[in-house]
Amino acid sequence: MSPVNPMAQLPGVDRLLNATDIQPLINEFGRMAITDAIRTLLTESRQRLIVDPGSPPPNIGAMIETLTVQFQQERRSRLRPVLNLTGTVLHTNLGRAILPAVAIDNLIRVSHSASNLEFDLTTGKRGDRDTSVEALICQITGAEAATVVNNNAAAVLLVLQSLGHGKEIPVSRGELVEIGGSFRIPEIMTSSGCKLVEVGATNRTHLQDFAGAINDQTALLMKVHTSNYEIKGFTASVPESELATLAHEHGLPFVNDLGSGTLIDLSRFGLPYEPTAQDALTAGADLVTFSGDKLLGGPQAGIVVGRKDLIDRLKASPLKRALRVDKMTMVALYEVLKLYRHPDTLQQTLPTLRYLSRPADAMMPVAHAVHAALQETLAGVADVDIIDCMSQIGSGSLPLERLPSKGLAITPCIDANPSYPVHQLALAFRALPLPMIGRIHDGQLIFDVRTLEDASLVLDQLSCLSLSAPSP
Ligand SMILES: *Cc1c(COP(=O)(O)O)cnc(C)c1O
Repeated sequence: MSPVNPMAQLPGVDRLLNATDIQPLINEFGRMAITDAIRTLLTESRQRLIVDPGSPPPNIGAMIETLTVQFQQERRSRLRPVLNLTGTVLHTNLGRAILPAVAIDNLIRVSHSASNLEFDLTTGKRGDRDTSVEALICQITGAEAATVVNNNAAAVLLVLQSLGHGKEIPVSRGELVEIGGSFRIPEIMTSSGCKLVEVGATNRTHLQDFAGAINDQTALLMKVHTSNYEIKGFTASVPESELATLAHEHGLPFVNDLGSGTLIDLSRFGLPYEPTAQDALTAGADLVTFSGDKLLGGPQAGIVVGRKDLIDRLKASPLKRALRVDKMTMVALYEVLKLYRHPDTLQQTLPTLRYLSRPADAMMPVAHAVHAALQETLAGVADVDIIDCMSQIGSGSLPLERLPSKGLAITPCIDANPSYPVHQLALAFRALPLPMIGRIHDGQLIFDVRTLEDASLVLDQLSCLSLSAPSP
C-alpha cells in the first residue's frame, strides 16, 4: 500500500468555510476576513508538512479552534469601554476625560440626522460651524475671540505656522518640553517652518535673555507651560506679565501654551491651583492655547483664545481647514462648556471634576463592596486589602500633586497551588468583558477606586474572571 500523502489530508478552504462551527465567526467578522484567515492557516500547515512530512496534518476542529483564538484577539483589540482603575484620572492611553451624559446624548442626536453644522437657520444661508462654540468660549474666558481645532498640538502648530512661518521664535531652554508621543516643542517649531531660538539655561531664564534674542526676524514671544515636570532648586523664569510687556514693547504677540488650561480655579474645589485661560489672558497673553480633554473635561480638541486680529489670521490659514473638528466634537464641547455657566453644580455635572474632587472617605462604600467580592473570587489565590493610596490628575497636569484615595491591593499567595504571578492576575482582569485596568506596584495589583462610582460594574462581571493557565 502506498503511503498516504499528508497534503491530501488537509481540508480545502470550502470545507472549512462550510463547517457549522465557523458560521458564528463568519457572521461576526465577514466571509472575506475568515476566508483570508483560512488560506493563511492552510499555507502555514502545508509549509509545516513540507518541513516535517511525518507530522500529523491538523484536523478541522483544531483549525477552527485556532481561528477562534485569532479572532478573539481582534475582538479584544477593538476600541471599547474599560474601567480605569489606574489612579490616573486623565489617562491619555485610556482616552482622557469622560464626557458628561448631556454631551453624549447630544452627540448621538446630532449624529443620527442632518444638522445645521454650517447652515444659518435665520438667513437660510451658509453659516459658520464654529460660531456657537466660540461665543461660549469667549463668554467664559472673557476673550475677544476663539477658535477650535483637533487638539492642542494642532492649536500650537496652527499658531506657530500662521504667525511665525519663516521667522524666529525665542523660547526658554527650560520650556522645550516633550509632552509625550511626538509632541516636542523644538520639533513642532521645525514642522511649522519656524526657527526656534533657545534662550536662557535649563534652570534659569531671565528677561534680558529674551530681550537679547529679539531682532527684526522675531515673530512672537512664547511661553510653554511645563505641564509634565517641574524644575526645582536654583531656578528662575520670567513672569508672564513681564514677557508680555517685553513682547508688546517690540510690537510682537505673546503666546502662552497652557497645555491643560482649566476654565475655573480648581482651588475652590479643594484641588491644587492650576492657571486658568482667564489668568493667562489677564497676565497679558495675546493668544492662549489649551486642550479640550484634559482638565476642561471635554472631548479631544485644541482651543485658542485671545486677540481677534490674531485669531482671524489663524482662521484664514489653510491649515485651519485641515485641523478643523467634526460636528460630534463641536456638539460635545458645546455641552461641556455650557456646564461652566453653572460653576456651583460643576462638581456634580462634570465627571472629570467629580472624580478629581471626590473625597477618599466617600470612596469607602465602593471599596468595601469590591473588596468583599474580590476576596470571595480570589480566595486561596490572592489576598485582597483596602489601602490608602494616591491618585494623580494625569495628562501632564500638576505632575507632582497627589490626591489621597482608596484602593484595593491584590497580593498573590506565593504558596497557593496553582500560584498566579501578579502580571497573570492583571491579565485575567484585563480579559473581563469590561476590562479592569489597574497598576502593578511592589508585586501587588492595585485598583484605585477614585473613578469607580458604581461597584456593580465590577461585581456583575467577576464570575467571568478566568484564572486558567497560570504561567509556569
Ligand atoms: C498636553 C499638552 C499639549 C498637547 O495637547 P494635546 O491636546 O494632547 O494635543 C501641548 N502643550 C502642552 C503644554 C501640553 O501640556
